[in-house]
Amino acid sequence: MSFLEYAPAPESTAILNLKDSYGLFIDGEFVDGSGTPFHTISPATEKHIAEIASASDEDVDRAVAAARRAYEKTWSKMSGRDRGKYLFRIARLVQERARELAVAESLDNGKPIKESRDVDVPLVASWFFYYAGWADKLDHAGLGANPRALGVAGQIIPWNFPLLMLAWKIAPALAAGNTVVLKPAETTPLTALIFAEILQQADLPAGVVNIVTGAGATGSTLVRHPDVDKVAFTGSTGVGRDIARAVAGTHKKLTLELGGKAANIVFDDAPIDQAIEGIVNGIFFNQGHVCCAGSRLLVQESIHDEVVDRLKTRLSTLRLGDPLDKNTDIGAINSAAQLARIRELSDIGEAEGAERWSADCAIPEQGFWFAPTIFTGVEASHRIARDEVFGPVLSVLTFRTPAEAIAKANNTPYGLSAGIWSDKGSRILAVADRLRAGVIWANTFNRFDPSSPFGGYKESGFGREGGRQGLTAYLKGAAA
Ligand code: NAP
Ligand code: MG
Repeated sequence: MSFLEYAPAPESTAILNLKDSYGLFIDGEFVDGSGTPFHTISPATEKHIAEIASASDEDVDRAVAAARRAYEKTWSKMSGRDRGKYLFRIARLVQERARELAVAESLDNGKPIKESRDVDVPLVASWFFYYAGWADKLDHAGLGANPRALGVAGQIIPWNFPLLMLAWKIAPALAAGNTVVLKPAETTPLTALIFAEILQQADLPAGVVNIVTGAGATGSTLVRHPDVDKVAFTGSTGVGRDIARAVAGTHKKLTLELGGKAANIVFDDAPIDQAIEGIVNGIFFNQGHVCCAGSRLLVQESIHDEVVDRLKTRLSTLRLGDPLDKNTDIGAINSAAQLARIRELSDIGEAEGAERWSADCAIPEQGFWFAPTIFTGVEASHRIARDEVFGPVLSVLTFRTPAEAIAKANNTPYGLSAGIWSDKGSRILAVADRLRAGVIWANTFNRFDPSSPFGGYKESGFGREGGRQGLTAYLKGAAA
């Protein structure tokens, strides 16, 4: 331990008011599930947090029926102004319970408290505020002559940003007048269940939002349910393909937000100090469990050695450990399965000939951890340059000319995001114009705002979330 080491500063869990077990949230109430319950654990300690109900096919059917009733009887009849009031109320309650939600998120997911507290939860509130403001303006926003809700939305979300992905899904759906059945990921159900308590507090009419916890099979039943009108999915490309097949030929509207393998391009005239911070934020934010992570660093050959040296120095200062500690930079990997995948792909990286460097940090004995890692000498054909690792692993490639940078950046089956670092505005615009990615950041990375649409090309999926565009995914007859 160096003399500069910080003293531990863990956030207290006393603010949590957790139950021993959680039911499904259907028709405004917590009810028992008929599947076999499972446990959610803290990935930092592997300790049990709570028992969680598992929704069977019949439970999913009950939830969809509740959402249908709420749609027909209440929500579709309510004015946009009144729907907006509920959304504003939810946003304010999220702010009121922000600290509790942040602690629960870090406990269940493993992400550092400074991220859940300063990024995830504030964005959740802003998403609800933003779409609350749209609810009474749908007729006047160029969304077509008579924009109408689709009906019941089935929504499936992953474990990397549990509450934020819930907000991205639920806020626009409700603003547009739909009702919802949402399935959280198996390893991170906790904040969705606290959110259900918030909905009760907000007096949201019963059945407008239903939350069915369970494994992949619960999600599979939900997307196949004949009375679901819209399917919204965020997760892996493999499951996304399966869902696309299940929905093909039905009346259901579909949006898919899948994986990514973003290029973060650093030109030799880039502001290097800022670029180093941007590279770190791009790939080590949320342990790299980010679909739009800047996992492929494309650095101009002339500054390669300097950038890599400075990155290693910077990574050596990152603090890995207790997600609830306010000084933690790198938290726990979300699950044993995800850790195994990161290890496997990293081993393949080494076997294929790339050079591996990991920060020399102490790894706790309990829990799932992976030290921040850089691979240099990566070739475009290597698995670590092509597959989504979804962990704190950066692959470094080089280029000589802008044309080569663009060709390498686009050489991926994905197309979710990209970053460009350069002092020259004209170069940023020219390169951005030729990158095939849904979101492109310039001299920054991993910035999110509810007014800005987000989504992919190619195997990263289709449809946009956020902004006015995000409403069109939940409306009939609306052009993006
Ligand atoms: P996943 O299997 O696609 O899981 C995403 C969600 O879909 C979870 O709620 C999951 O439930 C559910 N699900 C699983 N199988 C399903 C099925 N057949 N039909 C309907 N829903 C189903 O992703 P993952 O296992 O969490 O992660 C695997 C990889 O996906 C990662 O390594 C990463 O590459 C990618 N990923 C991408 C994103 C993103 O934001 N784009 C997010 C997470 C993961 P369970 O939790 O119960 O399995
Ligand atoms: Mg968990």
